[in-house]
Amino acid sequence: MIDQTTRLRDVVGAATATALADALSLETSGDLLAHLPRRYHERGELTDLANLAVGEVVTVQAQVVSVKRRPMRERRRSMLTVTVTDGSHNLLLTFFNQVWQERNLRQGVTALFAGKVEEYRGRRQLTNPEVHLLDAESADPGTHGGAESFASGLVPIYPSAVKLPSWKIGSCVRILLAGLTELDDPLPAAIRDKYRLVGLLDAYRLVHQPSSWAEVARGRLRLKWDEALILQVALARRRLDNEQTAATARVPRADGLLAAFDAALPFPLTAGQRAVGETIKAEIARPFPMHRLLQGEVGSGKTVVALRAMLAAVDAGGQAVLLAPTETLASQHLRSLRNLLGPLGQAGELDAAPLATRIVLVTGSLGVRSRREALGAVADGSAGLVVGTHALLEESVTFRDLALVVVDEQHRFGVEQRDALRSRSARPPHVLVMTATPIPRTVAMTVFGDLEVSTLTELPAGRSPIASFVVPATNKVWTDRMWGRVRDEVAKGHQAYVVCPRIGEDDAAADAPPDAAADAPPDAADGVLPGSLAAFSGGAPPGMIDGDTWDATAGSEDGRRPSAAVLDLLPALRDTELVGLRAAALHGRLRPDDKDEVMTKFAAGDIDVLVATTVIEVGVDVPNATVMVIADADRFGISQLHQLRGRVGRGSAPGWCLLYTEAEHGSPAWERLAAVAATADGAQLARLDLAQRREGDVLGAAQSGGRRSLRLLELLKDEELIRSARDEATALMRVDPQLSAQPALAAALAATLDESTAAYLEKG
Ligand code: ADP
Ligand code: MG
Repeated sequence: MIDQTTRLRDVVGAATATALADALSLETSGDLLAHLPRRYHERGELTDLANLAVGEVVTVQAQVVSVKRRPMRERRRSMLTVTVTDGSHNLLLTFFNQVWQERNLRQGVTALFAGKVEEYRGRRQLTNPEVHLLDAESADPGTHGGAESFASGLVPIYPSAVKLPSWKIGSCVRILLAGLTELDDPLPAAIRDKYRLVGLLDAYRLVHQPSSWAEVARGRLRLKWDEALILQVALARRRLDNEQTAATARVPRADGLLAAFDAALPFPLTAGQRAVGETIKAEIARPFPMHRLLQGEVGSGKTVVALRAMLAAVDAGGQAVLLAPTETLASQHLRSLRNLLGPLGQAGELDAAPLATRIVLVTGSLGVRSRREALGAVADGSAGLVVGTHALLEESVTFRDLALVVVDEQHRFGVEQRDALRSRSARPPHVLVMTATPIPRTVAMTVFGDLEVSTLTELPAGRSPIASFVVPATNKVWTDRMWGRVRDEVAKGHQAYVVCPRIGEDDAAADAPPDAAADAPPDAADGVLPGSLAAFSGGAPPGMIDGDTWDATAGSEDGRRPSAAVLDLLPALRDTELVGLRAAALHGRLRPDDKDEVMTKFAAGDIDVLVATTVIEVGVDVPNATVMVIADADRFGISQLHQLRGRVGRGSAPGWCLLYTEAEHGSPAWERLAAVAATADGAQLARLDLAQRREGDVLGAAQSGGRRSLRLLELLKDEELIRSARDEATALMRVDPQLSAQPALAAALAATLDESTAAYLEKG
């Protein structure tokens, strides 16, 4: 009996099995079944030949236009050149020593041709392609494997290799399917019935040998369910494991720091801030770790929520730490927490409030003495609040009693970091993760599916809207008006940002489109996601946030000029548009002390214009800044622009965001900017952002949970399905956490999870 584990050599013979293994890493029947058609050819439909990429292995359906036999000098050699067409574009086929092909490839014949696209004298061609005649086949269905699917009109086209054209894979699949009578089905029968899904074997028959598009859809729907359910079961199990992990219940005293802080707050909390605060208070009082994701629109006031949670932890007798992705941000957090806390954060100082606690900063760049002092205060518990970079977690920093970890901006806090946190003590702390970018719900449910999610949807009252405009570089009037706006705002006593994609000077290696979704090579560096995507993945490198450490395109390779650079633009502006204004540079190559100084001065109003990289993307909070010019705005991604823009309009004066670009009106880059200018709804922009990226990028730097195996699911389109799968998975885990009644599902889960994930589950 054949099943998913049967070796392919026992199904298709040793030679073919070796080819399948070598070319496509397909070893078992299950591997081959899961090797799904990339697309389908309708009978008679010709492949568009205009866009074949050189180097790509392709299978095309085309019609023979002409055949020429060329004698070659060496008499025993011969060459046949065949021109095929899709009706509008031609492709050249060159056959060496295959004169016999002449018999089949007559003018007007339609066939499938497979091979690697090459370029020869400026024309694209296939050399010695594999040929699969379609007309002959339908005339004589017995001779070629493709017969059945052909008669039906849909030909599956598989991801293929040079020596293994699509139709050969198709015939292997056909042989396999003919030999199968049943398959272990991982989808529980109840779920199949409830959602009217076909069984696994039927699903494979439908996608591999469809007779209509409706059949393809039915088959794929069912296979999507497998992906969704397995992923959600893995995540539900993590949530369940978490509930079974012991943590210290933190029950805050009612008349503590939090109460004093609330009483002193100069503004009322929004309803959302209050509600999330209650949720957090309730969750840290449970005897297992809180794992909550807080997302919110830019400027919705996440910091206050975080600080209140930290104060609750201190009121319960513990310590709380706030982690930032960079030292710059850590220092800024320290400043803003100190401001918010006032005397409540000055324990040990002269004008401290009676209940006060101490807040310390721990970063790598502290001097030896201050570091020793800070670490001492952390260890003896006199510092209730600790701010630092993620390095805090990795180093051997000892807390007297760590109750809560708040992770800001979620750029770099994946499952591994959470695991590291958990494994550091028998009693892991509660964890609150904050993201800067609104995350489409389905992304949250997959990428962060083991976290509970809270969302702040409203902005504090009294905010003025930000007016955003695309400013074309070619339009002198608009450009003048843009700098005029900057001067006007400064004249009114406000401040401005000018954001550049690049630092400048010798930074060829540090120069890149920070987040250009449209042009970032998806696999440029492993695990490195373009800019704001990091917010979805938790997998981005620490430097990313500074916008300074990216490598790659200085603009020369893709023919574009280098993007605007801080160190070029600042002196230029000082001499021209911004003569007489107090302007300064801020970027990731400044020494931490210098960065601090610039930020402090800007916050104090001693600098009018900050010319900066995306260091200011997150966390910077200067309500008096009212206008932002983003130079070469097209080099940034959608979510990142939205994030940047959130730095203005934080006070009561109206804010301006001017997206300066050389992109041509109507080009895709222009349209992206226009979309950002047209809406202030971050959630909508996040969806748009995601829609423009390959989903693989979102899932690629997977934290774990078998996400790598998502091949059919589309996060935006399959929202309904993902949600249902999540509900089913949660219900299933409640009644049968070991999946003992679902052996096929358990096996599929085990097979899907990669080793590190499996290791995690064992730990849990
Ligand atoms: P974000 O969610 O983008 O991190 P912040 O926490 O930085 O937003 O808050 C933005 C600004 O709004 C800060 O200046 C903060 O003090 C202020 N703020 C926060 N909550 C409120 C509120 N309820 N009412 C008025 N201002 C608020
Ligand atoms: Mg913030």
